[in-house]
Parts: sequence; structure tokens; C-alpha cells
Amino acid sequence: MKKILFVLLVLPLLTFASDQVKYIFLFIGDGMGMAQRMAADRYKQLTIGEGLLMNTFPVQGITTTWCADHFITDSAASGTAIACGTKTNTGVLGLDADGNRLESVAEMAKIKGRKVGIISSVSLNNATPAAFYAHNPSRSNLYDISLDLLNSNFDFFGGGSFSDLDGKNSKNARGNFLDLARADGYTVTTTREQFDALDKLPAIAISPKLDGDAMPFNLDMEPGDLTLADITAKAIDLLDNDNGFFIMIEGGKIDWCGHANDIGGNIGETIGMDNAIQVAYDFALRNPDDTLIVVTADHETGGLALGYSGTHYESNIDRVSAQKAAYTTFGRAYANLKKDTAATFDDIKPLVTQYFSFKFEGDDGDPLLLKDYEVKKLEEGFKRSREAGTYSPVEVREELYNDYDPFVVELYHLTANRAGLAWTTYSHTAIPVVTSAYGEESDEFEGMTDNTDMANTIKTLL
Ligand SMILES: [Zn+2]
Repeated sequence: MKKILFVLLVLPLLTFASDQVKYIFLFIGDGMGMAQRMAADRYKQLTIGEGLLMNTFPVQGITTTWCADHFITDSAASGTAIACGTKTNTGVLGLDADGNRLESVAEMAKIKGRKVGIISSVSLNNATPAAFYAHNPSRSNLYDISLDLLNSNFDFFGGGSFSDLDGKNSKNARGNFLDLARADGYTVTTTREQFDALDKLPAIAISPKLDGDAMPFNLDMEPGDLTLADITAKAIDLLDNDNGFFIMIEGGKIDWCGHANDIGGNIGETIGMDNAIQVAYDFALRNPDDTLIVVTADHETGGLALGYSGTHYESNIDRVSAQKAAYTTFGRAYANLKKDTAATFDDIKPLVTQYFSFKFEGDDGDPLLLKDYEVKKLEEGFKRSREAGTYSPVEVREELYNDYDPFVVELYHLTANRAGLAWTTYSHTAIPVVTSAYGEESDEFEGMTDNTDMANTIKTLL
């Protein structure tokens, strides 16, 4: 307690105690299990010649992710465990299983005089970022969660936009959230020019390009588009100060691609987050005695297997590069074509070749030439897609495709299987995740840990 008072009283002259770390980065790959990391690592090795930076960190551990009411957690409960250090129930943010308010590591950092940044590639009131500033029994109360952001007094938010911006689903609506944030003193940027010019805090930097409320998928980005790495670099520039900072950066769409069983999108998002880790790592090299980088995940999504019954011992993960767009982008193009009710399977073939490079005719040795049974699978998916999800029984439909379009699912499964990979679920799994650490006090994260250890350990370093 005396130390806390001391820190508060002499902030401008602060020198850090031996167990304190001045600059702390916490990366969370949403849905990034060990298989996702290895698939992205192998893909990068084969296509670029070097693997993921996070896999080279000197400290590697295994982390359990279960929550208070389920062996398989959701992002709210696991986000709360990582952010606050306490297990809670599915869907709950910043409260324990009995509804008591918890303190997040970001809130503690702020109280101790650090600057705080929260970054996510998905909407900034989504479960994972919200776990660091919100206290709400339901992750679905999106507008109310946004209002909690204003109470946090955190310095920087960056990434996607906000879901339910105008509070259409909230009893507590009092206008457009971005207007409220501006009135509260936040500079809000929504264009690239504004982002580049941004030089003061507090600030909310929203990606100039959005896919729904989230940043675009890495796979769909064009040169010059704002990336998670760009936002991380901006956060470092703005937040660096004598009292240090805590920055949480979430790769949120690794999870979304896991749910959709989209392997190209999944690998793209994991590499996108690794690029942001590179920015933090470069900063750590410049500040070697003062920086800690922790990389973890809230859970695994999709039950990704690094093998497939049809390819035996063969892995061709670089073949994923034949996939040209993430599932939402292709899904939109396909839905557009599907509007023409007279369109046949033959009419859809050019779209398949355009987005997945698959060929329906050609040399037998061509790895992109579809085999007869694969074409049949696609035809069946197309037929079911045409039936608009009405075929039964519903249990079979659920198990085969969840809520996803059967034709779209078949194409993405085919892409994974041809690379020697397979998905086993459209949901999360309880497979433990990998935690990697670099820098000061990084050995605290070695070995078998639990997601609650992230907050509880980092709190001792503030
Ligand atoms: Zn999820």
C-alpha cells in the first residue's frame, strides 16, 4: 500500500521498482490455438521463408481457458479472466460469477499513472476489448458497454468501430456514441488523413475502411490500408511517456475465420497480428530493460487439425494461397450471383475459379484441378444452398453447416482439406492455448498457466 501511495505522489519522478515493468504489451489472438499458430507459421515458412515472430520468443507456455460455467469458454468470460484475473460465466464482462465488479489490469495501470491503450481488429465494444474497461452482465449490451468506455478514461482506442452506435438496442440510449466520445474530450479519427495527423490524447482511431463494424480481413486488404501493425505503431508514439504504458492488442478476426472454417482468412489474421507483435518487438529492442511483451489467446476456435484423412501424411499448407478472399467477401459475391434463381452450378464455376483458383478442367497433374468427388461435394453444397437451408433434418443441417451457407462452407473446407488441414467444429474448443513472452519478467509466463494468470501476473508488474 505504501508503495502505491509513493507511486501516486511522485509520478513525475517515478523510477521503477525492480519487479515493475515500464512498458507492457498484451496481445490476444482471439481463437488462436496452437494449431492456428502452427498453420500460419508453416504457411509463412513456405511462402516467405520465415515463420511467426511469436513462435521464436524465448518463453513459451501452455494456458488453460475454461470458464466458471463451461469447460469451453466464450470470449467474454476468457477476456474477463485475462483482463481481471478471475473466472466468470459465459457472456459476462468485468464481473465475477456472482456479479461483483472486478478491476482489470488496464484499470489498475491507469490508476497507477500509466497511459493505457486498447486496440482490436474487430469492433471496440466487442467482448475482448470490452473486458478491459466494461462491467456488464451481458456482452450483448453493446451500447451500454460503449458508455463504460467513457468512464474508463483510457487514453487510446484503435481498430474497428462500435456496434449499436446509436443505441437502438439499449434503454440507455442518449445519442450517437462517437458524438458522446467527442463531447467527452476524445479526438475521433475515421479517415487515413486524420489518423496520420493524430497527435494528441485521448483518442479513438477508427479504421478508415470497415467490413461491418470491424477492420477488413488481412486477406482482403489492399496496399496502403491501415493495419493492426500501423495502429500499434501509432499507439506507441502517442502513449510513450516517463510513467510507461499498458497496451492490449487483439487480433479479433482469427476467431471469426475459425467459426467460418476459413483457413486462408485465419492464417492471414494470425500473420496480421504477428506483424503488430513485430512493431512491439522493435520497440522492445530499443527499450530492452523496460519492456514486456505477452502473447496469448482466449481460446481455440474451429477445432483445427493439422492433418486430414484424405491427405494422409502430406501437408501442403502453401496451397492455401490459392484462396483469394475471406469468407464474408466471397459470401457477398456468391449471394449476389445466387439472387438470379435461374443460375446453375455451371454459372457459378467462374466465381469458384476466380476466388479459389480451383479448376474444373485441365491436366490431371494440376494440383488445382478438382477431382470428381470434390466437384460432387460442391454440387451438393450448391443444391443445399439453393434450398435456402430448408432441407432437413435440422440436426444434420446444424452439424454439417451451422448457420453458414452450405456452398460457401464446402469451398472453404475443400481449401483446408487440400492443404492437409481439417476443421472439426464451428464453435470454440477447450484445447489449451500457447502463451509466449519476451522481455522483462517474461519468465513469469513460462510453463503451464491459466488465463487468470495473465492479469494476476501483470498486476504485480505495474
Ligand atoms: Zn468466437
